[in-house]
Amino acid sequence: MINPDHARLKMVEEQLVPRGITDSRVLEAMRKVPRHLFLEEALADRAYDDSALPIGEKQTISQPYIVALMTQALALRETDRVLEIGTGSGYQTAILAELAERVYSIERVKSLALQARERLDRMGYRNVAIRIGDGTYGWGNAAPFDAILVAAGSPSVPPLLVEQLREGGRLVIPVGDRHVQRLQVGVKQGGQLVVSDLGDCVFVPFIGAFAWNADAC
Ligand code: SAH
Repeated sequence: MINPDHARLKMVEEQLVPRGITDSRVLEAMRKVPRHLFLEEALADRAYDDSALPIGEKQTISQPYIVALMTQALALRETDRVLEIGTGSGYQTAILAELAERVYSIERVKSLALQARERLDRMGYRNVAIRIGDGTYGWGNAAPFDAILVAAGSPSVPPLLVEQLREGGRLVIPVGDRHVQRLQVGVKQGGQLVVSDLGDCVFVPFIGAFAWNADAC
């Protein structure tokens, strides 16, 4: 394997900067977090490829560019409290934890949540809470959040997530059918989301009470 630290800097310069990731705090976090440690060993040498990769349980770690784009869209401040849905490998969680005060992350697959918990603990992230469950309900008793990131493709925006976002807060979510979605970023104004579109994307399905039905996936 080529030196992972070198590969990571190259990833930032070749995949993120030319595509318009300009937020210096996001670039710094992407240079810092060791993505190869969020994959099984056999895949570690592909960690800095320009693609999503399997993490088991039919789930994937998102492409680095998509992680950076979604994070940049949230315009996080150091004092923010963030809700993430779809912990997966915990990689995106670590990026958020670098940039915000506290991250609340929900994952429906227990084995993934436990692995992510262990990794993040080992790496010393002390500002992350992980819960196993259906993230379409949000995390009511930790609300309101300054920002919400959904890392799975949804047919629509679950209403409880909008409710749990503070006025002026931002929510990023892939919305579409099971195979392709548009990445949407919404700002809550007057209780409603004002949405803009960041382009096409492909995510695993968001499965839960206010998204897709598990049987059909
Ligand atoms: N950010 C993660 C992406 C993981 S893929 C990473 O980069 O590793 C999306 C994750 O969303 C999967 O792990 C999947 O199990 C989870 N997921 C799907 N529906 C969910 C739901 N309703 N609540 C919580 N997690 C969900």
